[in-house]
Amino acid sequence: MKIGRREFMLASVAVGAVGAMARKASAMEVPDPPQKAELKLSCQESKPPFKTLPEKLDFLEQHGYVGLELHGKDLLGRVEEIQKALQGRKTKVSAVCGGAKGCIISDEEPTRRQCVDSLKELLSAAGALGSTGVIMVPAFWKAKVLPHWEARTVIVELLKEVSEHAVSAKSRVLLEPLNRKEAHFLRLIADAAAICRDVASPGVCCMGDFWHMTWEETSDMGAVISGGQYLHHMHMASRKNRKMPGEDEGDNYIEGFRGLKMIGYQDYISLECGSKGDAKETIPAAARLLREQWEKA
Ligand code: MG
Repeated sequence: MKIGRREFMLASVAVGAVGAMARKASAMEVPDPPQKAELKLSCQESKPPFKTLPEKLDFLEQHGYVGLELHGKDLLGRVEEIQKALQGRKTKVSAVCGGAKGCIISDEEPTRRQCVDSLKELLSAAGALGSTGVIMVPAFWKAKVLPHWEARTVIVELLKEVSEHAVSAKSRVLLEPLNRKEAHFLRLIADAAAICRDVASPGVCCMGDFWHMTWEETSDMGAVISGGQYLHHMHMASRKNRKMPGEDEGDNYIEGFRGLKMIGYQDYISLECGSKGDAKETIPAAARLLREQWEKA
C-alpha cells in the first residue's frame, strides 16, 4: 500500500516510529495488511423506524447493511426469535451491545462476580447467534471502583477467566473505551488494546467508537492502528451531536477508515446514534456517505 508523507507521519506517531526515516521520506511503502479490509455496514436494532424485526431487516438490507447489532438486555430470551428472523438472509449478527450486570472493576467483590457471570451468559447467547462479540464498558463514571492500579490488575485476571468461556462459546468480549464524560477508567483504544495484550486470549478484544474518539483520540488513524489485531468492532455516529453520520457538518471518517484499511479490518461498522431527520432517510444517507468515504480512504 503506497501512502503519502502526511499519512505516514500520522501512522508513525501511532506506532512511535517517528524518526529520521519519516523526516526524509516523501512517500514510502508500508506492508500490505494481512487481508484486504472490507466495509461491512451494521445498524443497531433499535434504529430503523419499524415495528417488527423482519421489517427492520428488509429496510436495512435494501440499503446495503449486512450486520444487525443487538442489545444485550433481554437477549437471553430472544435467541430463537433472532435465529428465525435471520434464516435465509444475508444479514448476520454483528456485536451485542451491553447487557452485562455489575462492574468488573467494582470495589466490591460480589459486584465484580456479577459482571463475570452475566458476561458468560451473554457470551453463550452471542456465540449461538454467531455474533462477533459482546461489548463491555469496564466502568461507567458513577461506578464505585478499585484504585486504578488495582483495577488494571483485577480486570486482566477476571478477563482471563471470562476469555476461556468466550472461546468455548465462539465469541469474544469487546472492550469499549468511552469519552471522559461517561467513563474514567478506559478512554483510548490503545489502552483497551493493551489490556487485550495482557489477557492474551482471542476471547478478549476491543472496539472503537467514532463518537467517543472525537473527544479522546488525537488521531483516528493512529487510534485504529493501535487497536490493530485486537480491534473487532466500530461504532459510528456524527461527530458533534451523535446523530446519523452526515447530519453534522463536516462529518469525516476518512482517516479512521484509512487506518482500518491498513490493519485489514474484517468486522462491522455499526450505527449507534440518534437521528435529527427521518431515519427512513438518514439511515440510507449514512450508508451512502460511509461508502463514499471508505472509497476515498
Ligand atoms: Mg459505543
